[in-house]
Formats: sequence, structure tokens, C-alpha cells
Amino acid sequence: VSRIWCERAWRGRGPKVDSRVLIEAADDGTIASVETGVEAPADAAVLPGYSLPGLANTHSHAFQRAIRGRTEAAELGSFWTWREKMYEAAMGLDPDLYRELARATFAEMALAGITAVGEFHYVHHDRDGTPYADPNEMGRAVIDAAREAGVRITLIDACYLRGGATIALEGAQRRFADASVESWTRRVEELVAEFTGEGEVRIGGAIHSVRAVDAESARAVASWAAGHGAPLHAHVSEQPRENEECLAETGWTPSAQLAEAGALGGLFTAVHATHLTDADRDLLGSAGATVCLCPTTERDLADGIGGAASLRDAGAHLAVGSDSQAVIDLFEEARAIELDERLGSGERGRHAPAALLVAAGAAGHAAIGRPEGGAIEVGAPADLVHLDPASVRLAGIDDTDPLGAIAFAATASDVADVFVGGRQVVRDGAHTSIEVATELRSSIAALGEAGR
Ligand SMILES: [Zn+2]
Repeated sequence: VSRIWCERAWRGRGPKVDSRVLIEAADDGTIASVETGVEAPADAAVLPGYSLPGLANTHSHAFQRAIRGRTEAAELGSFWTWREKMYEAAMGLDPDLYRELARATFAEMALAGITAVGEFHYVHHDRDGTPYADPNEMGRAVIDAAREAGVRITLIDACYLRGGATIALEGAQRRFADASVESWTRRVEELVAEFTGEGEVRIGGAIHSVRAVDAESARAVASWAAGHGAPLHAHVSEQPRENEECLAETGWTPSAQLAEAGALGGLFTAVHATHLTDADRDLLGSAGATVCLCPTTERDLADGIGGAASLRDAGAHLAVGSDSQAVIDLFEEARAIELDERLGSGERGRHAPAALLVAAGAAGHAAIGRPEGGAIEVGAPADLVHLDPASVRLAGIDDTDPLGAIAFAATASDVADVFVGGRQVVRDGAHTSIEVATELRSSIAALGEAGR
């Protein structure tokens, strides 16, 4: 049993912050006891200032870290030209390069206070589209990478079958695609058999998008996920063109088509959900689905501003993800839920600071199949983020009501220490086992070489 004492801790729900909180972590990595208002025992790790439960990155594509800042030239004007650069990076990957890049990227996430990631995984096969001898070699590389970085992972394996309703697979897309939904299912069943019972690894499923998966196959993926009680994710209505193509093919919006396929429910997460109709919002809300907003990516790709408050009011849960890794900072993603809506609506105060932190915490953990996460309470994982008490951004904040400053001014750089399962993964702002910047530099350079 190890003990951690926090001068002040937000326990993951509500507006209240507790003082002098002693947390005991059991050997299995869960919290065995929590006491408040006690002095620090001599054997405890002492965390002055503010601590929070570990953050959850609900939507990530680790390899896209390689194109950060490389898609910002003026001529790379649209989502679709960005996608070409992303496909180039995907073409360079092999299992070793993928593991190295993902390990460095997940370590960057650990430095940002992320203790669990939902990795939306679709680069499955060799460069010509043939499965590797082990068809899950790429998925395993990603899982190994997260373990080495000390971050819990839910591998959300995405079914991808076609380029579009009338578009054949081409280029990098062949790496993403399985021959049929049956071969996707067989592959994912192997992952489930291997990783069930592993605390830090979970397996979920995804319908990549209504573009990449036809209605009948989407129904099969949804029924697989329901049968396993597994999280089910899909990219939904990120761009108007996706809606137009879906309407032309099926007569439905993407949300309506997914509802028709039986995908919507409490374990479903719609990623982006930017361009919705009122009926779409009602479908997602009444299903109790999660909507994962990725505001820094949505800004970067000029996707638009989703209606987060109306989705919440309809009954949806809100979570956040770093998606394209344009930046990795869940404080920035969380406050953008409110700030982007302020710009779009001319109104302030639709989302309380605690609700924004729940989106970066408990709601995200639940959406990636870890409903026990995101809280400092008995039985929850002993996953903690400690903010640097010397941070200039947080100096002088209101100690009686600090969540406004944490939600609206803290950054990933303010994370000093991170514990996952009671084990320290980040100490004084540095990863305990990985030289993160060095590994990012070398893995991205190696991928660049491979792409030439
Ligand atoms: Zn995505």
C-alpha cells in the first residue's frame, strides 16, 4: 500500500475541493481509502497545491502526432488537403515505427496529465493492404506503446471497409480496410480474447464513419459491441460533405443511420458531432450517448463549432479528445467547449468549470469503457494529476473556488506529477522512464525517412 497526501484535491465531481486529503493505494492499483482533513503522515508522498483525478483522452490517433505543424501552410487549405498529409504519414508506418511514435506520443499525454487514452485505431495492415502474419500486429504495437508510457489504453479498433459510397479504397486507405465486417470481427475477437482481464488494456469497437462502413456492416459492428458490452465509437458529422454524401446514399443523416444500425446507446460515443440537425441531437441525447468534442482539431481543420450545450440539454454526455494531436492539452480542449460556444453564440456561462473538468475526466473514462475512472474515491483507480504549485498561471487564484482558474487557465505544462495505479509516471514535470522530446524527435524523423 502506498500513500499520497494532497493539500487540496478536486475529487472528480461537483464544485467542491477538499483539503488535506490522504489517499491509500492498494497493491492492485485502486484506491483503498480516502480521508479528508488529516495531516500528512511521514511515509506519504506530499503534493502541495492542487490535485485532480487522472484525465481521459477519449479520442486519439497517436500517429498523427507526426504531422503536427506540417499542415499549416496557407495552400493546405481544407480538411481534405489535410487528409492527404495524414495519409502520407500513415503510409510510412510499420509496426516498429508505430510503436516508437505511439510510445513517445502517449508519454507526451502522460506529461499532460492523461492517465487513460481511447486510441481510435485504424492503420491495421501492411502498405499494400495485406494483413500482417499476425493481423493485429499494429494494434499490439500500439498497446505495447501505451504500457511502456504508463498510460491505460482502450484500443478502439475501427472497422473500415470502403473509401465512400461509390469510391473504391485507394492508397493508405488499403491499410485501414478489412476485407469484410466478418474479418474485422475475427480480428477484434482475438484482441478481446488476449486482453480481457488486463487492467490497463481494454478493447472497444468503432464504425470509422458512415463513409467508410455501409449500413449493413455498421449494424454488425454495433451488434458485436452490444454483445460484448464494449464501448462503440464513430466519427459523426465532422464535415458537411459527409452529411451530404450520407443523405445521398441512404436518405438519412449519419446520426440517423447509426441509430438505424442499432449503434446508439449509453456505450456509444459520437466523435465531433459538429454538423447535426435538431433530430440528430435528440437521437444522441435520448440514447444517453457521449459526444466527444475535439476542439483543437476542429479549429485546426475548420470543421465548425458543435452545439455542446444543446447536446448536453438533450441528454448527451460530453467528453474531449486530442484527436489529431495538433496540441495535447486536455485543459485547452475542455475550456474550448465553453469558449468556442461563447464565440459562436455571443453568450457566456453555458458550461460550469466543474462540468468542463468532468468532460476531461469521468465522462471520458466512462466513454472508453472505464466507468470507475475519473474520481478520487474508494475502488476507483489510483490515478492522480498534481498541478505545479509554482505555476505562474495558477499563482494567486481563489483558493476557496479554484476550479474556474484550473479549467480556464491551467495548461498541460502545469502538470508536475502523475500517478497511474498508485505508481508515479511523471515526477516534477518529467516522465519517469522516457525522454519524451528526444523520442518524439527521433521517431518522427524515422517516419519521415520511411516515407521517402
Ligand atoms: Zn478522429
